[in-house]
Amino acid sequence: MRSAIGIDLGGSHVTAGVVGEDGAIRAQYEQNIENRAFESVVEQIAAVAKQAIGAASDEIAAIGIGSPGNVDPESGHVRYSPNFGWSDVPLGELLRKRFSQPVLVGNDARCATLGEYEFGIGQGSMDFALLTLGTGIGGGVVGAGHLLIGYRFGAGEFGHHQIRPTDGFICGCGKTGCFEAQASGTGLIRHAFAVAPSFPRSALLDMPREKLGSKKIRKAAQAGDDHALAAWKNYTADLAIGLANVIAFVNPETIALGGGVSSANDFLVAAVQSRVDELTTMVPRATTRIGTAKLGNDAGQVGAATMALRGGLKTRQDAPGV
Ligand SMILES: [Zn+2]
Repeated sequence: MRSAIGIDLGGSHVTAGVVGEDGAIRAQYEQNIENRAFESVVEQIAAVAKQAIGAASDEIAAIGIGSPGNVDPESGHVRYSPNFGWSDVPLGELLRKRFSQPVLVGNDARCATLGEYEFGIGQGSMDFALLTLGTGIGGGVVGAGHLLIGYRFGAGEFGHHQIRPTDGFICGCGKTGCFEAQASGTGLIRHAFAVAPSFPRSALLDMPREKLGSKKIRKAAQAGDDHALAAWKNYTADLAIGLANVIAFVNPETIALGGGVSSANDFLVAAVQSRVDELTTMVPRATTRIGTAKLGNDAGQVGAATMALRGGLKTRQDAPGV
Protein backbone atom coordinates (compact mmCIF):
# COMPACT_ATOMS: atom_id res chain seq x y z
CA MET A 1 0.00 0.00 0.00
CA ARG A 2 1.24 3.51 -0.80
CA SER A 3 1.90 5.82 2.13
CA ALA A 4 2.48 9.54 2.51
CA ILE A 5 3.41 11.93 5.26
CA GLY A 6 0.47 14.13 6.26
CA ILE A 7 1.41 17.26 8.17
CA ASP A 8 -0.97 19.46 10.10
CA LEU A 9 0.52 22.85 10.84
CA GLY A 10 -1.10 24.48 13.86
CA GLY A 11 -0.36 27.71 15.66
CA SER A 12 1.40 26.04 18.58
CA HIS A 13 2.58 22.71 17.18
CA VAL A 14 3.16 20.75 13.99
CA THR A 15 2.05 17.11 13.71
CA ALA A 16 3.22 14.61 11.09
CA GLY A 17 1.51 11.29 10.46
CA VAL A 18 2.55 8.33 8.33
CA VAL A 19 -0.73 7.69 6.53
CA GLY A 20 -1.69 4.87 4.18
CA GLU A 21 -3.95 5.32 1.16
CA ASP A 22 -6.67 3.67 3.28
CA GLY A 23 -6.57 6.75 5.53
CA ALA A 24 -5.10 4.88 8.51
CA ILE A 25 -2.37 6.62 10.54
CA ARG A 26 0.50 4.22 11.21
CA ALA A 27 2.68 6.54 13.27
CA GLN A 28 2.53 10.13 14.49
CA TYR A 29 5.11 12.72 15.51
CA GLU A 30 4.66 16.16 17.02
CA GLN A 31 6.81 19.21 17.70
CA ASN A 32 6.01 22.41 19.50
CA ILE A 33 6.44 25.59 17.50
CA GLU A 34 8.54 27.98 19.54
CA ASN A 35 9.26 30.51 16.82
CA ARG A 36 6.60 31.49 14.27
CA ALA A 37 8.97 33.21 11.86
CA PHE A 38 8.57 31.65 8.41
CA GLU A 39 12.10 30.22 8.00
CA SER A 40 12.00 28.74 11.48
CA VAL A 41 8.63 27.05 10.85
CA VAL A 42 9.96 25.61 7.56
CA GLU A 43 12.86 24.07 9.54
CA GLN A 44 10.49 22.56 12.07
CA ILE A 45 8.18 21.12 9.41
CA ALA A 46 11.20 19.60 7.63
CA ALA A 47 12.51 18.13 10.90
CA VAL A 48 9.26 16.44 11.90
CA ALA A 49 8.68 15.18 8.33
CA LYS A 50 12.18 13.65 8.27
CA GLN A 51 11.55 12.01 11.63
CA ALA A 52 8.34 10.43 10.26
CA ILE A 53 10.00 9.33 6.99
CA GLY A 54 12.93 7.80 8.91
CA ALA A 55 10.63 5.75 11.12
CA ALA A 56 8.24 4.60 8.37
CA SER A 57 8.46 0.93 7.38
CA ASP A 58 7.07 1.62 3.88
CA GLU A 59 8.52 3.85 1.23
CA ILE A 60 6.98 7.32 1.42
CA ALA A 61 5.48 8.40 -1.91
CA ALA A 62 4.76 12.07 -1.14
CA ILE A 63 4.43 14.73 1.56
CA GLY A 64 1.31 16.82 2.14
CA ILE A 65 1.01 19.86 4.39
CA GLY A 66 -2.15 21.53 5.65
CA SER A 67 -1.34 25.14 6.50
CA PRO A 68 -3.57 27.82 7.98
CA GLY A 69 -4.28 30.78 5.74
CA ASN A 70 -5.00 31.45 2.10
CA VAL A 71 -3.01 28.83 0.22
CA ASP A 72 -2.52 28.36 -3.52
CA PRO A 73 -2.65 24.56 -3.75
CA GLU A 74 -0.94 24.55 -7.17
CA SER A 75 2.25 26.29 -6.06
CA GLY A 76 2.10 25.77 -2.30
CA HIS A 77 2.41 29.54 -1.81
CA VAL A 78 0.79 30.86 1.37
CA ARG A 79 -0.67 34.19 0.32
CA TYR A 80 -1.76 35.23 3.76
CA SER A 81 -1.76 33.57 7.18
CA PRO A 82 -2.90 35.78 10.05
CA ASN A 83 -2.10 33.05 12.61
CA PHE A 84 1.58 33.21 11.73
CA GLY A 85 1.73 36.79 10.50
CA TRP A 86 2.92 35.56 7.09
CA SER A 87 2.22 37.23 3.82
CA ASP A 88 3.13 35.71 0.45
CA VAL A 89 5.59 33.02 1.56
CA PRO A 90 6.84 30.16 -0.67
CA LEU A 91 6.17 27.28 1.75
CA GLY A 92 5.88 24.58 -0.94
CA GLU A 93 8.91 25.79 -2.87
CA LEU A 94 11.25 25.80 0.15
CA LEU A 95 10.14 22.36 1.31
CA ARG A 96 10.46 20.87 -2.19
CA LYS A 97 14.18 21.70 -2.07
CA ARG A 98 14.58 19.51 1.01
CA PHE A 99 12.82 16.31 -0.09
CA SER A 100 13.07 13.97 -3.05
CA GLN A 101 9.33 13.22 -2.81
CA PRO A 102 6.64 15.54 -4.23
CA VAL A 103 5.52 18.13 -1.64
CA LEU A 104 1.96 19.53 -1.77
CA VAL A 105 0.48 22.28 0.37
CA GLY A 106 -3.21 23.05 0.95
CA ASN A 107 -5.28 25.03 3.42
CA ASP A 108 -5.52 23.09 6.70
CA ALA A 109 -9.34 23.12 6.89
CA ARG A 110 -9.69 22.06 3.24
CA CYS A 111 -7.30 19.16 3.95
CA ALA A 112 -9.38 18.21 7.01
CA THR A 113 -12.53 18.36 4.85
CA LEU A 114 -10.98 15.95 2.35
CA GLY A 115 -9.96 13.58 5.18
CA GLU A 116 -13.36 13.63 6.85
CA TYR A 117 -15.19 13.29 3.52
CA GLU A 118 -13.20 10.25 2.44
CA PHE A 119 -12.66 8.43 5.72
CA GLY A 120 -14.99 9.96 8.33
CA ILE A 121 -18.61 11.02 8.67
CA GLY A 122 -18.63 12.35 5.09
CA GLN A 123 -18.47 8.89 3.55
CA GLY A 124 -21.56 8.31 1.46
CA SER A 125 -22.53 12.01 1.14
CA MET A 126 -21.74 13.67 -2.20
CA ASP A 127 -22.60 17.09 -0.73
CA PHE A 128 -20.73 17.70 2.49
CA ALA A 129 -19.41 20.51 4.67
CA LEU A 130 -16.94 20.48 7.55
CA LEU A 131 -16.67 23.18 10.20
CA THR A 132 -13.86 23.05 12.75
CA LEU A 133 -14.81 24.83 15.96
CA GLY A 134 -11.43 25.53 17.51
CA THR A 135 -9.50 28.73 18.16
CA GLY A 136 -11.20 29.95 14.99
CA ILE A 137 -13.61 28.34 12.55
CA GLY A 138 -12.18 26.62 9.51
CA GLY A 139 -14.35 25.06 6.86
CA GLY A 140 -14.58 23.24 3.61
CA VAL A 141 -17.23 22.17 1.14
CA VAL A 142 -17.63 19.15 -1.10
CA GLY A 143 -20.25 19.77 -3.81
CA ALA A 144 -21.40 16.92 -6.05
CA GLY A 145 -18.33 14.95 -4.98
CA HIS A 146 -15.74 17.69 -5.63
CA LEU A 147 -13.91 19.71 -3.00
CA LEU A 148 -14.49 23.39 -3.72
CA ILE A 149 -11.35 25.52 -3.83
CA GLY A 150 -12.72 28.85 -5.11
CA TYR A 151 -11.41 31.38 -7.60
CA ARG A 152 -8.74 32.62 -5.20
CA PHE A 153 -8.65 29.57 -2.92
CA GLY A 154 -11.14 30.93 -0.38
CA ALA A 155 -14.14 28.59 -0.75
CA GLY A 156 -15.24 27.36 2.66
CA GLU A 157 -14.15 30.38 4.71
CA PHE A 158 -17.41 30.31 6.65
CA GLY A 159 -15.68 31.64 9.75
CA HIS A 160 -15.76 35.16 8.37
CA HIS A 161 -19.34 35.60 7.32
CA GLN A 162 -20.94 38.01 9.77
CA ILE A 163 -23.85 36.78 11.86
CA ARG A 164 -23.94 39.71 14.37
CA PRO A 165 -22.52 42.73 12.51
CA THR A 166 -23.97 45.26 14.96
CA ASP A 167 -23.87 43.62 18.40
CA GLY A 168 -21.25 40.86 18.09
CA PHE A 169 -17.71 40.33 19.32
CA ILE A 170 -14.78 41.81 17.40
CA CYS A 171 -13.21 39.18 15.14
CA GLY A 172 -9.48 38.67 14.64
CA CYS A 173 -10.03 39.72 11.00
CA GLY A 174 -11.25 43.17 12.11
CA LYS A 175 -14.97 42.77 11.40
CA THR A 176 -17.69 42.58 14.06
CA GLY A 177 -19.75 39.49 14.76
CA CYS A 178 -18.11 37.04 12.36
CA PHE A 179 -19.32 33.46 12.77
CA GLU A 180 -15.80 32.65 14.04
CA ALA A 181 -15.90 35.38 16.69
CA GLN A 182 -19.25 34.09 17.98
CA ALA A 183 -19.17 30.33 17.50
CA SER A 184 -15.55 29.08 17.70
CA GLY A 185 -14.13 27.67 20.94
CA THR A 186 -12.84 31.18 21.60
CA GLY A 187 -16.38 32.45 20.99
CA LEU A 188 -17.67 30.20 23.79
CA ILE A 189 -15.18 31.83 26.19
CA ARG A 190 -16.33 35.28 25.04
CA HIS A 191 -19.96 34.34 25.67
CA ALA A 192 -19.01 33.17 29.18
CA PHE A 193 -17.42 36.54 29.99
CA ALA A 194 -20.29 38.45 28.37
CA VAL A 195 -22.88 36.89 30.73
CA ALA A 196 -20.55 36.81 33.77
CA PRO A 197 -22.02 39.94 35.46
CA SER A 198 -25.27 37.98 35.98
CA PHE A 199 -23.38 35.21 37.81
CA PRO A 200 -21.21 36.90 40.46
CA ARG A 201 -20.82 33.66 42.44
CA SER A 202 -19.98 31.49 39.45
CA ALA A 203 -17.41 28.75 40.06
CA LEU A 204 -16.05 29.47 36.57
CA LEU A 205 -14.91 32.88 37.77
CA ASP A 206 -12.89 31.41 40.64
CA MET A 207 -10.06 30.54 38.30
CA PRO A 208 -7.71 33.06 36.68
CA ARG A 209 -9.29 34.60 33.59
CA GLU A 210 -6.65 33.25 31.22
CA LYS A 211 -7.22 29.68 32.47
CA LEU A 212 -10.90 29.63 31.52
CA GLY A 213 -10.94 27.55 28.34
CA SER A 214 -13.82 26.39 26.16
CA LYS A 215 -13.48 22.82 27.46
CA LYS A 216 -14.03 23.90 31.08
CA ILE A 217 -17.13 25.89 30.09
CA ARG A 218 -18.55 23.07 28.00
CA LYS A 219 -18.00 20.50 30.76
CA ALA A 220 -19.55 22.82 33.35
CA ALA A 221 -22.56 23.28 31.05
CA GLN A 222 -22.90 19.51 30.73
CA ALA A 223 -22.76 19.28 34.54
CA GLY A 224 -25.61 21.83 34.83
CA ASP A 225 -23.69 24.93 36.01
CA ASP A 226 -25.98 27.98 35.59
CA HIS A 227 -23.31 30.37 34.34
CA ALA A 228 -21.91 27.87 31.86
CA LEU A 229 -25.41 26.97 30.64
CA ALA A 230 -26.23 30.65 29.99
CA ALA A 231 -23.03 31.00 27.93
CA TRP A 232 -23.74 27.70 26.17
CA LYS A 233 -27.27 28.84 25.28
CA ASN A 234 -26.01 32.04 23.63
CA TYR A 235 -23.15 30.19 22.00
CA THR A 236 -25.32 27.49 20.46
CA ALA A 237 -27.87 30.11 19.33
CA ASP A 238 -25.08 31.80 17.32
CA LEU A 239 -23.76 28.47 16.07
CA ALA A 240 -27.25 27.59 14.83
CA ILE A 241 -27.46 30.84 12.82
CA GLY A 242 -24.20 30.03 11.05
CA LEU A 243 -25.18 26.42 10.41
CA ALA A 244 -28.51 27.48 8.88
CA ASN A 245 -26.57 29.91 6.66
CA VAL A 246 -24.19 27.14 5.57
CA ILE A 247 -27.24 25.06 4.63
CA ALA A 248 -28.56 28.02 2.59
CA PHE A 249 -25.18 28.53 0.85
CA VAL A 250 -24.35 24.96 -0.15
CA ASN A 251 -27.25 22.67 0.90
CA PRO A 252 -25.05 19.82 2.13
CA GLU A 253 -26.42 16.39 2.93
CA THR A 254 -24.11 16.19 5.94
CA ILE A 255 -22.38 18.84 8.07
CA ALA A 256 -19.53 17.61 10.25
CA LEU A 257 -18.56 19.62 13.30
CA GLY A 258 -14.91 19.19 14.29
CA GLY A 259 -12.48 20.96 16.61
CA GLY A 260 -12.39 20.99 20.41
CA VAL A 261 -16.01 22.05 21.01
CA SER A 262 -17.27 19.09 18.98
CA SER A 263 -16.05 16.72 21.71
CA ALA A 264 -19.41 17.51 23.31
CA ASN A 265 -20.95 15.29 20.58
CA ASP A 266 -24.69 14.79 21.13
CA PHE A 267 -24.84 17.54 23.76
CA LEU A 268 -23.76 19.98 21.05
CA VAL A 269 -25.83 18.58 18.20
CA ALA A 270 -28.99 18.40 20.34
CA ALA A 271 -28.48 22.03 21.39
CA VAL A 272 -28.45 23.35 17.82
CA GLN A 273 -30.62 20.97 15.82
CA SER A 274 -34.10 22.41 16.44
CA ARG A 275 -32.94 26.04 16.03
CA VAL A 276 -31.15 25.18 12.77
CA ASP A 277 -34.38 23.59 11.55
CA GLU A 278 -36.36 26.72 12.48
CA LEU A 279 -33.89 28.96 10.65
CA THR A 280 -33.78 26.79 7.54
CA THR A 281 -35.94 28.22 4.80
CA MET A 282 -36.03 27.46 1.06
CA VAL A 283 -34.18 24.18 1.72
CA PRO A 284 -36.46 21.45 3.11
CA ARG A 285 -36.16 21.51 6.90
CA ALA A 286 -34.39 18.79 8.87
CA THR A 287 -32.94 17.16 5.78
CA THR A 288 -29.31 18.03 6.56
CA ARG A 289 -27.60 15.62 8.91
CA ILE A 290 -25.49 17.44 11.52
CA GLY A 291 -22.94 15.25 13.28
CA THR A 292 -19.54 15.40 14.88
CA ALA A 293 -16.39 14.64 12.91
CA LYS A 294 -15.10 11.10 13.32
CA LEU A 295 -11.40 11.65 12.69
CA GLY A 296 -11.07 14.36 15.34
CA ASN A 297 -7.70 16.07 15.32
CA ASP A 298 -6.36 13.53 12.82
CA ALA A 299 -8.53 14.75 9.92
CA GLY A 300 -5.96 17.37 8.85
CA GLN A 301 -3.09 14.88 8.67
CA VAL A 302 -5.17 12.24 6.90
CA GLY A 303 -6.44 14.79 4.38
CA ALA A 304 -2.97 16.27 3.79
CA ALA A 305 -1.54 12.81 3.11
CA THR A 306 -4.47 11.95 0.82
CA MET A 307 -3.89 15.19 -1.09
CA ALA A 308 -0.21 14.24 -1.44
CA LEU A 309 -0.97 10.73 -2.72
CA ARG A 310 -3.51 12.05 -5.27
CA GLY A 311 -1.44 14.98 -6.47
CA GLY A 312 -3.95 17.59 -5.27
CA LEU A 313 -7.09 18.14 -3.21
CA LYS A 314 -8.90 15.45 -5.18
CA THR A 315 -11.79 13.35 -3.99
CA ARG A 316 -12.31 9.76 -5.10
CA GLN A 317 -14.68 11.13 -7.77
CA ASP A 318 -11.82 13.28 -9.15
CA ALA A 319 -9.23 10.52 -8.95
CA PRO A 320 -10.94 7.15 -9.37
CA GLY A 321 -8.74 4.19 -8.65
CA VAL A 322 -6.21 5.99 -6.42
ZN1 LIG B 1 -13.75 37.59 10.85
